[in-house]
Amino acid sequence: MIGVAILGSTGSIGTTALRVLERQHTRYRVAALTAHSNKVLLAEQATRWQPGYVGLVQDGSGHPAGWETGPQCLVRAAQRDDVQVVLNSVVGAAGLDATLAALERGKRVALANKETLVMAGALTQAAAKRGGGEIVPVDSEHSAILQCISGRPRSEVRRLILTASGGPFRSWTRAQLESATLADALKHPTWNMGRKITVDSATLANKALEVIEAHILFGIPYEQIDVVVHPQSVVHSMVEFVDGSVLAQVGQPTMEIPVLYALTHPERVVDHGISSFDPVKMSPLTFEPVRLDDFPALALGREAGMAGGAAPAVFNAANEAAVALFLDGKIRFMEIPRAIRSALDAVGGAPSETRVALGEADARARAHVREHFAC
Ligand code: NDP
Ligand code: MG
Repeated sequence: MIGVAILGSTGSIGTTALRVLERQHTRYRVAALTAHSNKVLLAEQATRWQPGYVGLVQDGSGHPAGWETGPQCLVRAAQRDDVQVVLNSVVGAAGLDATLAALERGKRVALANKETLVMAGALTQAAAKRGGGEIVPVDSEHSAILQCISGRPRSEVRRLILTASGGPFRSWTRAQLESATLADALKHPTWNMGRKITVDSATLANKALEVIEAHILFGIPYEQIDVVVHPQSVVHSMVEFVDGSVLAQVGQPTMEIPVLYALTHPERVVDHGISSFDPVKMSPLTFEPVRLDDFPALALGREAGMAGGAAPAVFNAANEAAVALFLDGKIRFMEIPRAIRSALDAVGGAPSETRVALGEADARARAHVREHFAC
């Protein structure tokens, strides 16, 4: 049996993973669960799965005996000897140290928590090299690319084409975007996800994070990574090869498929929970260019990725801080990309060689956004 730690088990990806594991219980055992503050759901999950370890980030009373509380619980769960796969489905930079710890211990990290890879791509790769661990992406686009690219040398790849649903504002005018509300931004047309990534999908900051994620995971230069809007979310991404052939990975828009693949890669296992793909039901499939001028976060992310150093971490931290302010009703929707622009200009060139330096760049970017944008 393969032991799985689910970090962020109470979230959208965490609960999806537990649904998948329910059907794969003959191969996988839930060895550890962690959440931030949702004690009620975590207790239900702990009762159902009986993991050897339960961690809650938020300190305080009122939790069952035997749970460990405090932010160190993520790393603790990730390092356990009875854990072979760490599914990191924490939201935001808070997941970084657990990813590094798991890789240092030679474990597979099934990574949904893309922010950590964007923040610390080089450190993450160094940790994997030192410890023998590996990252397998959960993100549907990167799972698609992995499936298309596996076994082929990078020299055969002409281009990666990431698909984007376009989010709830795909057809909104610039003037409408300026007055978009939180309720508008949280109405995602195809995916049911946590609030932070739902807002990221509306600004296209999510796609910016994914372009950087693809560059780090697959070693493809930014000039060879394109994004196309595909509102149906059925083509999960494509790889164009040097001979002009294009491979796409296609499937129903459910995260259950990439979550399971991240556990089993490169193998495939039977999953009776996913109904057969019906291309007729899925049609028509359409594609549109991205409106880069109206969704500036995408170009900002690409710029940060190409600049390298601390810039991706600053992009991510500024976005996290701005989204938090937007979720609290303190800034307007289009201030999110403005806050990112401003933070990149102010601290994008900060030192980035160590974990401590990256943490400082992250903190400075957050402070900058709060100071200049919170009203
Ligand atoms: P949710 O907000 O639904 O869940 C987040 C999980 O992380 C919860 O279990 C939450 O605990 C926990 N958590 C929140 N803050 C912290 C913290 N500071 N420290 C430790 N744990 C924390 O998010 P999603 O599941 O939607 O997304 C998770 C990650 O997966 C994100 O990085 C996202 O970008 C990525 N992703 C998500 C997809 C999706 O379909 N949802 C698709 C592709 C990628 P609690 O419930 O107690 O607050
Ligand atoms: Mg994605």
